Amino acid sequence: MKILIEPQIYNNEILSSWLIRSSIINGSEPSSWATMIFNDNKFWSKDPDRFIEDEEVHKLVKGCNKSFQELKNMTLEPLYKKIIGNDKLNYKKAWTFIISTGQRGTYRRNGTYFCPLCLKNEKEFSLRREFRLAWNTSCSIHKINLLQKCQKCETNFTPYKITFDEAKPFLCTNCEYDLRESNMKRANEEVYIFQEKLNNAIFNENIDKKFPLIELNLEELFKTLRILLSFLRALMKTNKSTTFLKKLNLEHLKKQLEEIKTSDNFEDMELKAREFYLLLVSRLFSLKIEDIKKIFEELDFTYKLVAKQSTLSSKTIDYITKNLKVNSKNKDVVSTKEITPKSKEEVKILLEELKSCL
Ligand SMILES: [Zn+2]
Ligand SMILES: [Zn+2]
Repeated sequence: MKILIEPQIYNNEILSSWLIRSSIINGSEPSSWATMIFNDNKFWSKDPDRFIEDEEVHKLVKGCNKSFQELKNMTLEPLYKKIIGNDKLNYKKAWTFIISTGQRGTYRRNGTYFCPLCLKNEKEFSLRREFRLAWNTSCSIHKINLLQKCQKCETNFTPYKITFDEAKPFLCTNCEYDLRESNMKRANEEVYIFQEKLNNAIFNENIDKKFPLIELNLEELFKTLRILLSFLRALMKTNKSTTFLKKLNLEHLKKQLEEIKTSDNFEDMELKAREFYLLLVSRLFSLKIEDIKKIFEELDFTYKLVAKQSTLSSKTIDYITKNLKVNSKNKDVVSTKEITPKSKEEVKILLEELKSCL
């Protein structure tokens, strides 16, 4: 199938965004459009923005004037390879720093993040690759926090579901609320600056020379960052969280601790929790490596708490944790409620309750 009117690719535009715009310009709707091109009615549920088989890209190349590489570069695969290096790519697994979307089995994943101001009109809108990179909590252009749901009916943003009669990606596909009217929140300045530094690293291979890294390369940067994020999540569950926040001059965040409590991976966290952890990690990244090491030693963090919350490893983390104790006597992580022996009375009641089930 030949795409008659072919839109230009916007800067950093993600594949689905370009496909949706193509379908609208050509008077079609994304679902039937993709079925025609790829001969696959499950195309959208497979998250083509993350990974698309070469064979599928070739089908698209035949129908348009874009090259194989131009199309592949609209997906997240080339970026993920920069983050994780030469490790084997497994598209069935979750990817470090890549936000999952859609629904697989019974596990509901996040919807697609969007900037309400970037959804200008039905022909000029863009969803960009950075919206899927988990350190992005705001739009680089408009400096407002990204959204994921319709604020009126709470339905996830799924623009590929727009239909021919209402082919307007700025309308909620469930209740037709104009998403451009959503309440917007200004980005946290510090988190925004850090986010843009990381975007500059991944997109332009330009790493801030002041970052506390043993080696200044992308893999070292993103692995170190990801290990620290796992460590911080574990740390916030311990009684050392308060002292640590004080050290970073962030004691005012203490009251947020309850709200952002989660056992989700960083990639699956709600935006608010990711913003919280990014603020912490950006403070660490503004220090010198020796100062981080000193703080960790002073607060008597264990090697396990810092380095073993993640399966990744990095030279920077090895260096920082060199002198830390493997395990401490005082348990670091606050354990869940202990199982205590029951009194005679309690056992009796339990037995009665059990009997009714037998
Ligand atoms: Zn925007
Ligand atoms: Zn809605």
